[in-house]
Amino acid sequence: MRGLVKGLGITLKNMTKPSVTHRYPDVPLPMPDRFRGIQYFDPDLCIVCNQCVRICPTDCITLTGKKHPDPEKKGKVIDTYDINFEICILCDLCTEVCPTEAIVMTNNYELAVYSRDDLFKNMEWLHQNDENVRKENNLNKPNLAPGGNKK
Ligand code: SF4
Ligand code: SF4
Repeated sequence: MRGLVKGLGITLKNMTKPSVTHRYPDVPLPMPDRFRGIQYFDPDLCIVCNQCVRICPTDCITLTGKKHPDPEKKGKVIDTYDINFEICILCDLCTEVCPTEAIVMTNNYELAVYSRDDLFKNMEWLHQNDENVRKENNLNKPNLAPGGNKK
């Protein structure tokens, strides 16, 4: 009986304390701004310089460029851009070297899929991953509001 009362006392005492658990996945966990999450890619900013590919320690980025459609302009525009998230370690190096911030980190982290093939993300998918873009990488992006969400 004494043990029961003691147990109930502990329960009652802890009922008034703030919760230490999270209602994930019903309520997403907010991440700090420096969190290294799944990249956002902006094809309009990419100059096909290949620096992200060269620095990637796991060789998980593949890209192709094509001639600029405007004959007056030099250089290439991006044609395909893929990241293999089976082996991407979200190290942030690709975003650090990108001179135009075409590729930047977001705070998004959910990559669970049923098939490993679904971990290959293409340019369209990466471009649509435009929520929660890291604020400090977001300064050159007129289409994104501070905090990373679309205006
Ligand atoms: S975060 Fe690191 S591992 Fe992933 S694509 Fe960028 S450079 Fe490669
Ligand atoms: S470093 Fe940036 S600009 Fe250069 S190819 Fe990669 S994403 Fe494009």
